[in-house]
Amino acid sequence: MSGIYIHIPFCRKACHYCNFHFSTSLASANSMVDSINKEIRMRAPTSLENINTIYFGGGTPSILGPEKINSLLSTIQLHFKVDPLAEITLEANPDDITTENALAWKAMGINRFSIGVQSFSAQNLEWMNRAHTVKQSIECIEIIRSAGFTNFSIDLIYGTPGQDQQSWEEDLKMALELKIPHLSCYALTVEEGTALNKMINQGKKEDVNPDEQAERFNSLVSMTKQAGYLHYEISNFALPGMESKHNSAYWEGKAYMGFGPAAHSLQGKTRSWNISNNIEYTRSIQASKLASEQEELSATNLLNEYIMTGLRSSKGIDREYIRLQWGEQLLGLIEMEMVQFLQTGKLVSTDYGWKLSEAGKFFADGIASSLFIID
Ligand code: SF4
Repeated sequence: MSGIYIHIPFCRKACHYCNFHFSTSLASANSMVDSINKEIRMRAPTSLENINTIYFGGGTPSILGPEKINSLLSTIQLHFKVDPLAEITLEANPDDITTENALAWKAMGINRFSIGVQSFSAQNLEWMNRAHTVKQSIECIEIIRSAGFTNFSIDLIYGTPGQDQQSWEEDLKMALELKIPHLSCYALTVEEGTALNKMINQGKKEDVNPDEQAERFNSLVSMTKQAGYLHYEISNFALPGMESKHNSAYWEGKAYMGFGPAAHSLQGKTRSWNISNNIEYTRSIQASKLASEQEELSATNLLNEYIMTGLRSSKGIDREYIRLQWGEQLLGLIEMEMVQFLQTGKLVSTDYGWKLSEAGKFFADGIASSLFIID
């Protein structure tokens, strides 16, 4: 066992690009916290398991305030053996971070924030329908630093409609000037069913432009490199020693348990996921029934996941590991498919396998899916 993930399915406003599972009604917040606490008790192992990371994600966990987060954290601590040095992250939106809250979260053991800044441009925040302002983003960073937090990350989104190269570079300059220890930077994707998708279909917003997104990605890579950040995963950049332990464990295929609606878990070859419906979830848990489904991952599922996460990481993928785990034949198929990417310089050989070149990084997901083995 490595990590615990808690999904808090509430947000103040619906961001126009978001397709995560959340509700903007907080009416059921108390019963949701009771249900997640009960799910933790129901699924807790009989012998204490060692937990190295805990991650409150969502949704917007910070919207619950310190008391409810403390209730969930206390239940975890009661039923699992949490390493005294465990990384405990709280996803927070800038408008929820006050001095009082930050100090209370620190006192209960939260030691890392992941803050949904998204942009330092007021215009960008407005079309995204974010609940916070640029001023609140800058203030919240001062608040958490004053409260004694040294480990935190901000999310930024690039390649959004109306964002030009200059505006993106200004976002990055601000993040670098603020010496944010960790940056998670994502190219905007337009998901089915979102308000953004509708706006684009109705001609009210421009569609995303992959060439412009590649240009933004290139400046992201070069500016962060110059500022001393390690590009340790395609979308993640850390000052030395500030890499996210929780996310790194996901990418290394380590086991984790997820609690709350829509949360996923992985244990060995079994992946399970809770129902993405707040009412159904609480009803089922209150009736002492888990509201989840599960699947057994096949050998090729596991291989494809290894290729995807390995290529997205700075370490790349390990030839010998593939040979030992999945055999010569599948390794041969992957090597055959790789030739085109090695010839075009998107992949490079390393001492033990292969990794993406600088030129190949923006195409990580496409290259990985070309290498996938189909059953
Ligand atoms: S705050 Fe985060 S989870 Fe909530 S709607 Fe916005 S992007 Fe989605």
